[in-house]
Amino acid sequence: MMLILKKGLGQAEKEALVQRFKGLGYGARLSRKEGQALLVLDRPASSLDLKKLGAPAWLEDLVVQEDPPKKVSWAWKGEPSQIDLGGRKIGGGHFQVIAGPCSVESRDQIVAIGQAVKASGAGLLRGGAYKPRTSPYSFQGLGQEGLDFLMEAKKKTGLPLVAEIMDYRDLDKFEGVDLLQVGARNMQNYGLLKALGKVKKPILLKRGFANTYEEWLMSAEYIMAGGNEEVILCERGIRTFETHTRNTLDLTSIPVLREMTHLPIIVDPSHGTGKASLVEPMALAAAACGADGLMIEVHNDPEKALSDGDQALDPQAFDRLMDKIKSLRACMEGWV
Ligand code: PEP
Ligand code: MN
Repeated sequence: MMLILKKGLGQAEKEALVQRFKGLGYGARLSRKEGQALLVLDRPASSLDLKKLGAPAWLEDLVVQEDPPKKVSWAWKGEPSQIDLGGRKIGGGHFQVIAGPCSVESRDQIVAIGQAVKASGAGLLRGGAYKPRTSPYSFQGLGQEGLDFLMEAKKKTGLPLVAEIMDYRDLDKFEGVDLLQVGARNMQNYGLLKALGKVKKPILLKRGFANTYEEWLMSAEYIMAGGNEEVILCERGIRTFETHTRNTLDLTSIPVLREMTHLPIIVDPSHGTGKASLVEPMALAAAACGADGLMIEVHNDPEKALSDGDQALDPQAFDRLMDKIKSLRACMEGWV
């Protein structure tokens, strides 16, 4: 339901109304459409006596929608979401590159990679401690020790952290992680998504490798419906009949999702292609079609990596890519 607010209402009065409706158990937020200020509610307020809430003073008109707006939609939030990740913004014109190894392998490894990617201009450091591996016999990540090493890398580099959470019972262990990643395999793990809806921390929601845009957005909606509206989407490729690449990187998702949602969208060309030689062209293409950021796997010695070495850039290749991204972003200034 949308409440069209009277012209001339001050920001503080509008915010007070939002708080009032929230206090009554509604999801509520301010939005704008065609120059009009709106108060959007997540369900009809038909059972409420708006007059008792002083409506004549602030209410211009009511728009009752049969299907209340989804929180991922532009109808819910009329401007692009900007998410603050430990002081670095993403979305609404802010672009960030997240870089680091697939898995944290040792203290020295993650600290050295963190320092290298920071020097090249990465905004956040990634590293997996709990790894979703296809085989139970493959390296599963260092677990708690991996998170401890990530914290040391954060202290040494000042870079905010991104790490994948697979089980909501591990939430306490992720306290120092700034952006919680939900991997492709867990995109429809509704227990995990619901638990993350109660967390006061941004979530990076990767696309499942066999999921449609609609399903992906509904998974984001699960998190947002719980109260956590800080969700970033990450396109990481889907499974198609093509076997030459690990996945088919669906860059069409960027402009399509831009039409469907206010949430920031980033691209992971590492998992999207599975091959280091393809990461640079696809990263540039992702930036060119309007992604809000990139996630790139970087390893100090890709041949010896314990996971995903084939798709990892070494720090030198990452540095060259960052130079190109910066030039591309500079010439795109004002385009998207
Ligand atoms: C990862 O980021 O290392 C990862 C496992 O990604 P995905 O869930 O996209 O496969
Ligand atoms: Mn990986």
